[in-house]
Amino acid sequence: MAADLDLPIVYGIYVPTGELRHVTDVENGKACDCVCPDPHCGQRLIARNAGTKRIPHFAHESGSCAWSAEYLISILAADVITESGSITFPELTFFDEEKGQRVCRSGARRIPMARAELKELSGRQAPDVVVTWRSSSGSERSFAIVFQLRHTVSDDEVKRLSEHVEGVVVVDLRKHMREAKRRMADKHYDRAEMASRYQDKRLIRSFLLEDRPKYKTWAYSALAERLHAESAERKEAAEKRERRRREEKERRRRAKEERLRREREERAERERRRRQGREEEARRAAEERRREAAEERRREEAMRPENYGKYLPTILPLVDQQERPAMDEFGRHWVRCESCGKVAPDREFSLYGGNGRLNLGTCTECMRKRR
Ligand SMILES: [Zn+2]
Ligand SMILES: [Zn+2]
Repeated sequence: MAADLDLPIVYGIYVPTGELRHVTDVENGKACDCVCPDPHCGQRLIARNAGTKRIPHFAHESGSCAWSAEYLISILAADVITESGSITFPELTFFDEEKGQRVCRSGARRIPMARAELKELSGRQAPDVVVTWRSSSGSERSFAIVFQLRHTVSDDEVKRLSEHVEGVVVVDLRKHMREAKRRMADKHYDRAEMASRYQDKRLIRSFLLEDRPKYKTWAYSALAERLHAESAERKEAAEKRERRRREEKERRRRAKEERLRREREERAERERRRRQGREEEARRAAEERRREAAEERRREEAMRPENYGKYLPTILPLVDQQERPAMDEFGRHWVRCESCGKVAPDREFSLYGGNGRLNLGTCTECMRKRR
């Protein structure tokens, strides 16, 4: 983001010793013998510590530079951490995909640090404060502390840092300054004075060592990212289990439906066969009745004297022998009348039969005429 704050600095590098010196601890004017703390700038500074209108500060010989304030704060911060041997990390939260909300992994905690160094990792023109924690077994983990005052910390800078450290904590002095300005809205607000306050080890110490959740946040945390990824995996596994459970439920529902459908079909098929059996039986019974009726009609036909002639061709050879009775298919015994020669069933005869004349007799008519 564009630099929108032209901030004075209150420390310079005192050329004879190479150490930081406060503007009130040097000669006024060019005689201060100081240069800008930012080596990329390196301009000679002019101490303005005798004025009454402005607070004591250093001016650049040929115009102020962009990064000197942040450079200076990084140097002071590394000193503060080295001196205290610790830093308070802000609350660490991560988005738990499984719970669908942000959860706290650990509250703000003061952690002992093995060392603090200035390293240029983020690509900013001010160094990053890299603090290193050492476990009892000797393994180390590094974190970067980045101050945001005249320049905001960009996503690209955080990404570059994340390749070197386990976490990036941004100390937002801009926010602190904005709020201070708001609080002092109707009073006298001196930006130069405000800015100079941040170049003060006591204030830097309060930001680094106290829990100031409003101004200190994790811009990156390998742990939070891992926890987030793990929660996403758990969520996916839970969704997979739920999907399988639903699929299994659906499979069982379909199987039950299929079984019921088969049972319904089998019942329908049995019912169809029973009906078919009954129909077949009825058909056979009707056929039988028809057959019996036809047989009955044929028998009745056969019994009529006017139809006797029809049977003669088959019965005559039987009638004209006397070894066996001449029986037709209806069980009638046919006899020949010895008087008129008529051949007819035995009911038309008054007498018939006898030894050697089984199929011979005298018909009722001839017997009547004889009387
Ligand atoms: Zn400078
Ligand atoms: Zn006769």
